[in-house]
Amino acid sequence: MTTVAALPSALASWDDIVQRLHGDAPALFLDYDGTLTPIVEHPEDAVLTAAIREAVRAVAAVCPVSIVSGRDRTVVEALVGLSGLGYIGSHGFDICGPPESPLRHEVGVEYLDALNAAESTLHERLARIAGATVERKRFGIAAHYRQALSRRAEVETVVRAVHAMHPALHVALGKAVFELRPAIDWDKGRAIRWLLDRWSVAPRLPLYIGDDLTDETAFEALSADGIGIVVADDNRSTAAQFTLRDPRDVQAFLDRLVATVRSTLV
Ligand SMILES: [Mg+2]
Repeated sequence: MTTVAALPSALASWDDIVQRLHGDAPALFLDYDGTLTPIVEHPEDAVLTAAIREAVRAVAAVCPVSIVSGRDRTVVEALVGLSGLGYIGSHGFDICGPPESPLRHEVGVEYLDALNAAESTLHERLARIAGATVERKRFGIAAHYRQALSRRAEVETVVRAVHAMHPALHVALGKAVFELRPAIDWDKGRAIRWLLDRWSVAPRLPLYIGDDLTDETAFEALSADGIGIVVADDNRSTAAQFTLRDPRDVQAFLDRLVATVRSTLV
């Protein structure tokens, strides 16, 4: 682990990264919110600009691309709106590999009954807290309080009470959100590893770009045989090897990757 400020910029380290690719396009993994889109007040406003969608489409034409998100897989797939990509949703619990490796895996199907029951109780109890909202994903239920920051403690009390009724679930904390998920030791990093273990990407190098704390599990999973790029402008600790400041930088990185693969790599 190091800190963001101690890491080189992925754009400034371009030659180093290209050298590590050993003449092949990478197997690319991209987080969605905060990586391809700016972080916004309302999650439904986190849409791709035409330019970054075009950048993702272009990069998917030269290497396998998977979008990895905490959102429901079908939701992030609709937001990206591109076919020919892999989509991994619900923080890695719902895996659909890219066309090059169309593997399908759902982790925690046996927890769906508990999730369904917890979802209706949460809806009922959080309805009394103005601004608190419930978002159901296939393998998680998010209780958002971004619009009810002053009532965080009340939201937490409700979530903890619902959790007590369903001990097969566990409570994960995020940015202005509590999330109930199956109590399984699983995350984005394990999802990537699961995919890579069954899909021989070699000689491709796995390359992951993300901004969330949850993306750290992926950076750790790839620390020995891949490249992790953290999108951040603060100085938190990270297991990534390079940084990009914001989604604009990510777009520049993708554009440069496409140009390099087309001109010099296979
Ligand atoms: Mg993110």
